[in-house]
Amino acid sequence: MRAAVLVTGGAGFVGSHACKALAAAGFLPVTYDNLSQGHRWAVRWGPLEIGDIEDRDRLQQVMDRYRPAAVMHFAALIAAGESVAEPAKYYRNNVSRFLVLLDAMRRQKIDQIVFSSTAAVYGTPESTPIDEKHPLAPINPYGMSKLIGERILQDCAAAHGLRSISLRYFNAAGSDPDGEIGESHAPETHLIPIVLEAAAGDRPHVAVFGTDYPTADGTCVRDYVHVTDLASAHVLALARLKSAHGAEAFNLGNGNGFTVREVITAAERVSGTKIAVKQEPRRAGDPPVLVADASRARAELGWQPAYSDLNVQIGNAWRWTQGWSRRQAVGR
Ligand code: UDP
Repeated sequence: MRAAVLVTGGAGFVGSHACKALAAAGFLPVTYDNLSQGHRWAVRWGPLEIGDIEDRDRLQQVMDRYRPAAVMHFAALIAAGESVAEPAKYYRNNVSRFLVLLDAMRRQKIDQIVFSSTAAVYGTPESTPIDEKHPLAPINPYGMSKLIGERILQDCAAAHGLRSISLRYFNAAGSDPDGEIGESHAPETHLIPIVLEAAAGDRPHVAVFGTDYPTADGTCVRDYVHVTDLASAHVLALARLKSAHGAEAFNLGNGNGFTVREVITAAERVSGTKIAVKQEPRRAGDPPVLVADASRARAELGWQPAYSDLNVQIGNAWRWTQGWSRRQAVGR
């Protein structure tokens, strides 16, 4: 029998790719998702249990049914800009509801968790690239909600031996190279899918948030990491949790930064279209530059990103977007 892993948010972007990787590694990924952001079509490698992580009874029921040995926790709100305007929403979802999940795990004696964290825990970097020793000073409620999550995991490790690995993603990008799943948020707030919507003619232009940052072309620099590489890091983290104790954190990024304008140019190349751009003011809560030093994940998890090329990432996402539009057009 395959060992079950409870994947909260398994119907979402990174969660669904992690389910695919878990299944390939011989696990049964059990998706627990309220489908508020996730999609039924993204759950293809194990059962879908619809439920909210604030629903103790439902969580208990699902844990009783599948007896997972570990949890991967993706169910969270992720838009840094929105979190500045709606902080309570972020603390409620990413902290209060997370505590309900941790309580349920403890009752069920599940002592292993891989936690989706973010580069936003670092805030505006003092030095770049950022390694895990860099000071933790989030500049938006999203980053702070994830930092609190990491801190809770450390305290639970000390108090009752919870084992955890927090994976600090830089900018998740791309989509399944086999084209089985991909990114779809409503409303979309992330740069690459927005740029590709513009390339496909589904939006008139791309708004560039801030052109006066202290970077090569004045726009923000981000380190884009392929979602399939994020997924493989989760499986490696799960393997490490068998023997690791305490609470650890690893950066996941490629160590290469690209400006917003460079992403747009790459998307123009990939799609063969000209993308209209509108300069807009800075978006609240955005640090100018975020680039990872992920040597720790490489050395200690054995992580080897396979899709670090931005053109490949955008190419996968573009193929997904094009296929998606075709499926919509024929009503499937
Ligand atoms: N961005 C932009 N226009 C958009 C969406 C995003 O200029 O329509 C910028 C955003 O300000 C940031 C970068 O693109 O500098 C990446 O933003 P995204 O929301 O994709 O990820 P984040 O860095 O917030 O996790």
